Amino acid sequence: MVTGLLGRSRTTPRSLLDRYGTEMAEALTEREAGLSGMRERKARRLDALMRRIVESNLDGILTLSVDNRVTMANQAALTMLGYSMDNLKSVSAVEYLPAFRAFTDPNGADYAVGCGYRETILVNSHGDAVPAEVCISDLLIHRQNIRVVILRDITEAKAQRRALEHQALHDALTGLPNRTLLNDRLSHAIKTAQRAGEPMALLLIDLDDFKEVNDTLGHHVGDMLLTQVAERLKKPLRDSDTVARLGGDEFAVLLPAATDQERAFEIAHRLRDAILEPVKLNEDLSAFVGASIGLAMYPHHSEDSIRLMQCADVAMYCAKDGPDKVVLYDTEKDSNNLRSLALSSALRKAIDEDAVSLVFQPKLCLKQNAITSVEALARWEDPELGVVQPDEFIAHAERTGQIRDLTQLLVKKAAQQIAMWRQDGIQCRVAINLSPRSLHDTDLPDKIASILEEAGVEPGQLIIEITETAIAIDPAKAKSILARLSDLGITLSIDDFGTGYSSLSILQQLPVHELKIDRSFIQHMLDKPSDDIIVKSTIALAKNLNMTVVAEGAETTGHIERLRQLSCDYVQGYAIAQPLDADRFCDWLESYVPPAPAA
Ligand code: C2E
Ligand code: MG
Ligand code: MG
Repeated sequence: MVTGLLGRSRTTPRSLLDRYGTEMAEALTEREAGLSGMRERKARRLDALMRRIVESNLDGILTLSVDNRVTMANQAALTMLGYSMDNLKSVSAVEYLPAFRAFTDPNGADYAVGCGYRETILVNSHGDAVPAEVCISDLLIHRQNIRVVILRDITEAKAQRRALEHQALHDALTGLPNRTLLNDRLSHAIKTAQRAGEPMALLLIDLDDFKEVNDTLGHHVGDMLLTQVAERLKKPLRDSDTVARLGGDEFAVLLPAATDQERAFEIAHRLRDAILEPVKLNEDLSAFVGASIGLAMYPHHSEDSIRLMQCADVAMYCAKDGPDKVVLYDTEKDSNNLRSLALSSALRKAIDEDAVSLVFQPKLCLKQNAITSVEALARWEDPELGVVQPDEFIAHAERTGQIRDLTQLLVKKAAQQIAMWRQDGIQCRVAINLSPRSLHDTDLPDKIASILEEAGVEPGQLIIEITETAIAIDPAKAKSILARLSDLGITLSIDDFGTGYSSLSILQQLPVHELKIDRSFIQHMLDKPSDDIIVKSTIALAKNLNMTVVAEGAETTGHIERLRQLSCDYVQGYAIAQPLDADRFCDWLESYVPPAPAA
């Protein structure tokens, strides 16, 4: 109440004296005196508090007089600048803050007073540069102009930022630039080459058989190998060249301006030779990997960085497929390969997203006159590429090494389907197709075993079809993988039998249980006696070898009838059903009536 009265200008001790008498007025005067003392003490306390805040601040804080001499500096500022208070007072601001003039010139482009923090460099008393942010403000305090300079040491923040940038732009395993950084350098290199009117080269390197090393010796060995390859790639190159790891076993080398085709070839061969040297993994173990290198030249093949990369990629795929292991981009091969590039990325995505599906084509068991098994066939429809035929994407997956993941996905889907049908009371064995490349995947039997176990499916429920050509490529290797699959209890079937050149003696040595006669023989057996004889003798041969026989591609009931006469065990083909998705297969199965044997 009293304080309220004092707050009004008209309320003086005199007027109060008039109103409340001397005693009261004296008391108030005394109180006012007390209050001003209190204000002073409060101001002193505030002052002390401010000093402590300024002093304990981690940022350096300086106050400058009008002639820009330091009047006050906190400890952080003294430490940052390496001066004592006395010394700092005697140096001019430009000595520790070289940009001071630029920052404080109101007509200059860099005027920074009252504009928040600016990044700059401080120079400490030892002459060392300290990266810092500086904030300058001009204040009017007690009618005095005071310039306050806040200094923030950003050495650590910068180092952290650099580390993060490095992380974002480099491969963690090898420390090499990653794809993002390569793209950036490629764009810059193109601009430089453009200005200088000089050619430059881009190399894409893919290791051959790296997957095998990874699969057989484990990922840590794979990692060691990649690290050593990275070192070898760096050695023969100049500092201005860039070696990048694009992921997996794919590397890129950018040879900037003034690299002509001849020199690019020479370097590519040198790099390949370096990779081919055995890689010592430990005292007893060395690994060998090959490399396929694709080469594209600026400006000859393209003046655009993305296109140049595609050209090198196309050339690299040609090197993978062909006898030459260092291949220069060739426009003629491009149309196919552009599709191949599109397929690669779309298929990768489809595999990752489980977007490759299975359809099931029933096999009729002639003895039981019932459907007892189905063949699972892969289907893929890409949102952009449309339906891609299995022949095309399987072959593509084999070429690019994507077959491994694709096969695992399809085996998993088949196993899950067997389990689901079993729950619905449908007992049906499922045959899946294994590509020739899978016969090199020594991990595959274990992988299949664990997939089946996870799905709770007996290995006896699974049939694996392999073409005879796949076996003929490397019978010894095929034998060992097939033996392991057979030991698990999986039935092995030779697909498309009759189209390859596998010798009977080889077949006899393999643990195969079933022959599938190729549809080309079945389709013409009714009108081409030679095909009928082939089918007949193949059935006889299979029986002699204790194998069951499946005839694929039966398109009419006539085919089924003839195959029954010849004592074929199973028949598959459009005469029974087209490949169906899982739901349609169930509906179909419910209403299917097998053709009755002819009287
Ligand atoms: P394949 O294993 O010999 O499969 C049989 C092919 O013949 C299938 O073609 C099937 O749709 C077709 N077919 C079935 N019955 C008849 C018929 O009565 N007449 C005619 N003209 N054709 C019939 P699809 O599905 O196009 O598969 C083609 C090939 O692609 C397969 O031949 C197989 O080698 C490969 N393939 C399909 N799915 C997979 C898979 O999951 N993994 C692997 N590695 N290869 C697969
Ligand atoms: Mg098949
Ligand atoms: Mg077949």
